Amino acid sequence: MLNVVIFGAPGSGKGTQSERIVAKYGLNHISTGDVLRAEIKNGTELGKTAKGYIDQGQLIPDELMIDILASVFDSFGESKGVIFDGFPRTIAQAEALKKMLSERGQEVSVMLDLDVPEDELMTRLIKRGQDSGRADDNEETIKKRLQVYHSQTAPLIDWYKNEKKYRHIKGLGTMEGIFADICDAIESV
Ligand code: AMP
Repeated sequence: MLNVVIFGAPGSGKGTQSERIVAKYGLNHISTGDVLRAEIKNGTELGKTAKGYIDQGQLIPDELMIDILASVFDSFGESKGVIFDGFPRTIAQAEALKKMLSERGQEVSVMLDLDVPEDELMTRLIKRGQDSGRADDNEETIKKRLQVYHSQTAPLIDWYKNEKKYRHIKGLGTMEGIFADICDAIESV
């Protein structure tokens, strides 16, 4: 199986590039943000809990996210592989992912770090908020999410370097150019 972690700050293009990876390599896609937004839309208990954190730009507690991830992963059954989009976001989640995959005879094949400068992230997210109306894409919440990214999520770069899974992808340029670099990185593993 080809198990890809697509990593990057909010607004780095993880969702857009994930769709292309899914189309080209036939992987199953787990976007933890999409899972949570669907729960909110359906008015579930999980959705109610998640909304409080998302609206504040904070992360949902690790134990909850890890349970959600395992149940979505197991729902795929036979699969060519999975793209993890928006997970892991903390060291505890990365360790849990490693454990969950190894219990299933699997591992992360590669971690792709979509690297985009901060001013560009801000511009993209504000535009996305205007276009899509996503509630957490407002300036105040974006700033919090970027702080959370730097303090809780960015340490995963060194964690995956240590695992020898890390690939840097320059996240600026055309969508096609970035996708070509992603394909090179995937095909090198
Ligand atoms: P995203 O769509 O990936 O930007 O996620 C939107 C929001 O959902 C984040 O700001 C978090 O509040 C929450 N979220 C998504 N994935 C995770 C995760 N792996 N761990 C904790 N919170 C998450």
